[in-house]
Amino acid sequence: MNSFATLTEWSDALQTKKISAVETVDYFGERIERLDPTLNSFITVDRERARQEALKIDADRARGGIISKLAGLPFGVKDAIDTEGIRSTGAAKILDTFVPTFDATVVKKLRASGAIIIGKQNCDAFGHGGSNENSMYGAVKNPWDISRVAGGSSGGSAVGVAADLCAFSIGEDTGGSVRAPASFCGVSGLKVSYGRTSRYGAMPMASSLDTVGPFAQTAEDLALILEHIAGPDPLDATSSYTPVQKYTEEIKKDIRGLKIGVPAEYFLDTLDDAINDAVVTALEALKSQGAILVPVSMPHTKYAIAAYYIIVPCEDSSNLARLDGIRYGVRRGESEMLSLYAQSRTEGFPTEVKRRIMLGTFALSHGYYDDYYLQAQKVRTLIKRDFDTVFEKVDILATPTAPEIAFKLGDKTSDPLKMYLSDAFVTPASLAGVCALSVPCGFVEGMPVGLQLMGPRMREELPLRAGHHFQQITSWHTHHPSL
Ligand code: GLN
Repeated sequence: MNSFATLTEWSDALQTKKISAVETVDYFGERIERLDPTLNSFITVDRERARQEALKIDADRARGGIISKLAGLPFGVKDAIDTEGIRSTGAAKILDTFVPTFDATVVKKLRASGAIIIGKQNCDAFGHGGSNENSMYGAVKNPWDISRVAGGSSGGSAVGVAADLCAFSIGEDTGGSVRAPASFCGVSGLKVSYGRTSRYGAMPMASSLDTVGPFAQTAEDLALILEHIAGPDPLDATSSYTPVQKYTEEIKKDIRGLKIGVPAEYFLDTLDDAINDAVVTALEALKSQGAILVPVSMPHTKYAIAAYYIIVPCEDSSNLARLDGIRYGVRRGESEMLSLYAQSRTEGFPTEVKRRIMLGTFALSHGYYDDYYLQAQKVRTLIKRDFDTVFEKVDILATPTAPEIAFKLGDKTSDPLKMYLSDAFVTPASLAGVCALSVPCGFVEGMPVGLQLMGPRMREELPLRAGHHFQQITSWHTHHPSL
């Protein structure tokens, strides 16, 4: 197989028996062993277990069993998503020893299709961060330039695909954690609509925003994965019964006449010229295929960061209360209860997690709830209405995924506000619960730039279709880092 083969190419090679599942696992296993000591994108790798599963798949195939398109394909999973029998730390030391007794629903579905977990991927602890520097297992390095961040929080999952360490990976996006690292690492990543995939088994961060979604080399690959992971789940009451589309078919439909809204608020004068140019050129490419560009306005965009960074810490602070050193993972300190809680949480959480717990607890407290939490919820409604209004006029929206390219490691670690501002273009879709795709659309200073395509809730086929057609006429997704 060629390096950086797409999922579709791997799948064809496996189906036509040009390669076996064991050889596929060995291919990625060898690359992980060689490259990951530098990149640090995995926290746990279980090559032997992956090999055992591959042997079973090969035996099934030899017997002529019905095999899904994902059978035999090794994938990585963000470490903040539970995997049965494989340590899942969430990249925080408080769960250093935690081995779940069950698979997250998305993982369970993939494994039932014959896909094979190759390892658990590094991330910002419990998804808190935009650079992957809030991992207690060390930062992930960007394969395009190892002095730069991979983006976060699902940085390890983006690098897994960008460095060809797995056929695809599964991350989680609450406020950009799939899209931002996809943009920084030059891969395709999909934030699904809230409820499109089950959240069961994803370590909860902000339950009203959390989504589980894939990374891959192409939009077409994302469509294939989504077909396997989407759908309702009795274990997640917020998962949707909206029928799952045949995304791999839907994306092939023409984009002639597709109306693409271009919101002015994402293209302000303050936007870096080179990023602006890359995205504008991408829009022209879509137009050349018959899409219609429509200037639109989403006036509440500028409040998204402020609302997001109230709502998320509030939900965080209550969700993280379960990690008390008693029920799961690592226990520290005396047997006296309060000191046990305090020491376990002091040693087990990184600074950013503690900051969010304190901010959230404050914003929810008596006397402040109305001023902060309630106010932020009202702003959230206004942002959602911006989306409802534009989607009456256009089919999808196109913007840059991030206002910058991957920055240098350490550049923003001492300034959390600066770090939060990186999320300006990804948090609105999260607050509104809509779907959003990031695909590579150019390079600035040798680093990838991402194009964000957002669609209405449960209409993943629309941004995927635009992304797929874009990749038919451009080659950005075929550029890979030299490793
Ligand atoms: N940068 C966002 C944050 O720190 C990303 C969160 C996410 O999507 N998990 O909240």
